Amino acid sequence: MFKKILYTIALVFFGIFIFLILKNANLNTFIDSVENRTFDLRQSIIIKEGGKKANSDIVIIAVDDATYEYILGNYGEWPLPRDVYANMINYLEKHNPRAIAFDMMFVKSLKSENQADLALINAFKKYNNLFTSMNFDNQSADLRTPPQLPDKLSINIENNSKIDFSDLTYTNCRKILDGIINVTSNIGIINVSRSDDGVLRKMPLIVKYQDKFYPQLALKVGLNYLGENKDTFEIDNNSNLKISDRKIFLDKDGSAIINWYGSAGTYTYIPMYQLIKAVNGEKTELDYDFSNKIIYFGTTAASLFDIKTVPTGKIYPGVEIQATFLNNLIDNNFIRKVDRGYTIALSILLALLIASVVSRVNSAFTASLMSLSTYFIYILISYYAMKFGNMWLEVIYPLIFSILAFTSAYIIKYLIKSRDFELQYKLATTDGLTELYNHRYFQEQIRMQVEQSKRYNTSFSLIIIDIDFFKKFNDTFGHQSGDEVLREVAQTLKRNVRATDIVCRYGGEEMSILLPNTHKEEALSTAQKICDRVASKKFKLFGGKETNVTISLGVSTYPSDGESAVDIIEAADKRLYKAKNNGRNQVR
Ligand code: GH3
Ligand code: MG
Ligand code: MG
Repeated sequence: MFKKILYTIALVFFGIFIFLILKNANLNTFIDSVENRTFDLRQSIIIKEGGKKANSDIVIIAVDDATYEYILGNYGEWPLPRDVYANMINYLEKHNPRAIAFDMMFVKSLKSENQADLALINAFKKYNNLFTSMNFDNQSADLRTPPQLPDKLSINIENNSKIDFSDLTYTNCRKILDGIINVTSNIGIINVSRSDDGVLRKMPLIVKYQDKFYPQLALKVGLNYLGENKDTFEIDNNSNLKISDRKIFLDKDGSAIINWYGSAGTYTYIPMYQLIKAVNGEKTELDYDFSNKIIYFGTTAASLFDIKTVPTGKIYPGVEIQATFLNNLIDNNFIRKVDRGYTIALSILLALLIASVVSRVNSAFTASLMSLSTYFIYILISYYAMKFGNMWLEVIYPLIFSILAFTSAYIIKYLIKSRDFELQYKLATTDGLTELYNHRYFQEQIRMQVEQSKRYNTSFSLIIIDIDFFKKFNDTFGHQSGDEVLREVAQTLKRNVRATDIVCRYGGEEMSILLPNTHKEEALSTAQKICDRVASKKFKLFGGKETNVTISLGVSTYPSDGESAVDIIEAADKRLYKAKNNGRNQVR
């Protein structure tokens, strides 16, 4: 019964605590940010263990530091004249690449020359495996005019999910070259979304601008790679974006969680200046087969500021993020975060397991070890779920549940134990019939009284009580009535002494009272009071009749009657004997 009540109380508290966690937004944010760190850790370990390999079809033409210097040296300024890009495109297209994509924007620039721009525009007109990007933001309209984008750049989505795109709604677009917008629809967004801690773990596949939807550059390039050319997308009611035979799980804001393949430098990259040299027929070390490759142009030079923090590194160039995103898309590697509901269910299961371990296993060490192992096994499962199943099984909520379960199970166990101990102690020190302390306890206590009185230079008294003619009483009225009298006398004793006095059943029908800090005179008056109370009391007999019972009492005091427990008891005993001899029903 007691155990059941305790378990119920613990369960209720547990429930309230969990409810508070789930309700408290701040706490949730904190837990999420810790969870994010564990995601980074898992990703890093998977990579260290030689996890997924980056797709070798993807190659980067990098505007690295060397290229930046080369351009400043040879062209005098950045950005590069657009016809140089056109020449590079024409050069690369001769090698039959799968696609060429620019993770950089050809925005209107004062320095751009019409002729050079036209060369680039013509390249976009000519090749339909050529892609470029645009970027949205929410700056005020007077800083940046919100251009009307042609309809062909937008996509339709049939959204049956709970995805709310309002988180990724933008009011401005950087005006990319009009000519390019006119000749191609191979333009995708390159917006990113970062976690609260600034780390980039996911990217939007689709964003909203002027009430229309626009795809990520990687989505455009990926669809081209997969041989699909669609502009209508279905998001099912489980928030999966359906593309060919695969489903990409989108977060509630329309983003997909990226699986990482390594730190910066994972993808094959070629400094752009080598390509420029090759295009210009200069001697260069460029020796690369571009056929069937997906070529991404982008900056990696630190001075060009397209550097972000990702789970696998503090410094990660934007173009490699695009490449990784595309890689996830074409190799179907995006991470799916397991629903919070399932996580909570698993957490409860884990909590129950740990609670049962704690309640069943006696050794605290073994129980702790087993609980830790249980959680550790869960960690392993979550690790392999990510490594082989691309699944993000949260670990922090389960950890909190486990710790709560462990501690509450221990508290309950302790409470039950201490209650059992109390019960044992009571049984060991109490007399069953009278519920007074027993002889053993009396012996313990009188020795303690001697020690204490010695130490503090005080006195204590002892009263020994014996019922008069009890043998005859038993013979006359029967043992059951005798027992009842014993109980009643015991109660009378208890009621007439202080709370600090210790009333014991000395043995048979003899009882004793230890009176700490009590002089002889006080003890005598207490004894007399008890003697009178018992004598005047009507004892009910078995069967309804009433009768009187008397007692004889012997009193002794430390230190005047002796300095040891044995002496004190002997003195009281002798006086009791005297009381008996002197006619009973009296105090000596
Ligand atoms: P006295 O006045 O000299 O004390 O006479 P007495 O008959 O009381 O003598 P004594 O103290 O020697 O008697 C002890 C008797 O107490 C023996 C026994 O029948 C009775 N007794 C001891 N323990 C119990 C008990 O637990 N229940 C009952 N009913 N009787 C008990
Ligand atoms: Mg006796
Ligand atoms: Mg007696």
